Amino acid sequence: MQFWIIGVAAVGITLAAFGTLVVVSRSAFRASAPEGTRPGFRLLPGNAMMSGLAASWERDRAAMVGVLHEDLQVLHARLDALPAGPAAETAAAQLRRAEEAARRFAANEEWADNLRATTTAAGRAVRAMAGSEEPVCLFNPVHGPAAAQVEWAPGGGARRRVPVCAQDAARLRDGGPPLVRTVPTDEGVVPYFAAHGRYVDWLLGWYDGADPYLTARLLAGTAIGGHLPGRIRAIHGADSDPLGEFGRVHD
Ligand SMILES: [Zn+2]
Repeated sequence: MQFWIIGVAAVGITLAAFGTLVVVSRSAFRASAPEGTRPGFRLLPGNAMMSGLAASWERDRAAMVGVLHEDLQVLHARLDALPAGPAAETAAAQLRRAEEAARRFAANEEWADNLRATTTAAGRAVRAMAGSEEPVCLFNPVHGPAAAQVEWAPGGGARRRVPVCAQDAARLRDGGPPLVRTVPTDEGVVPYFAAHGRYVDWLLGWYDGADPYLTARLLAGTAIGGHLPGRIRAIHGADSDPLGEFGRVHD
């Protein structure tokens, strides 16, 4: 619990620091302008846009910190129910790594790398706990490694086979919707794959260890799908894509 208090405090300190910076810049600008020509803060081109973007990013990052918090809580509860042994020890070590990376993400330190490091460690923890190396459930990675492949078509997109947990496979078999991981955004609560590029590094961490282009194929045609190939090439290098177009999108 302490970690989250630190995380929230870190966001608060970052916001305060940003506010101080704006005030200092504004005073410095006014002091440096000759008397009678001081245009004032409101006339600086781009300032309103920049502070708008910064505020939007702070809201996004706070929402993402909340998502990481919820998922790590679920994983801790799962670990508590696991008998002591090598699997539990591995999972506990990975959860500690995940929490440390999440703390750095909350403090806005190399945020993309630390977001990915958080879910990379979380993915190793769920695989250790489940004793499976399968890719995680596409609908919600915290569900754990996939137990089945099902046909799925995102919002009018092409049908493709996706890895899912046993519970989501059963829901789909019964004609119900899968339990998709939703996230809060400025546009409302949406599935993580509809939140544009916000959750790219989050998703790539969960799928660390699998074919690097797997997520790009599984989520082609969704909002996140447009952001995945470029980010995957940036992380793994263009040579990691020998088929040019990250392989076939679906069967
Ligand atoms: Zn699932």
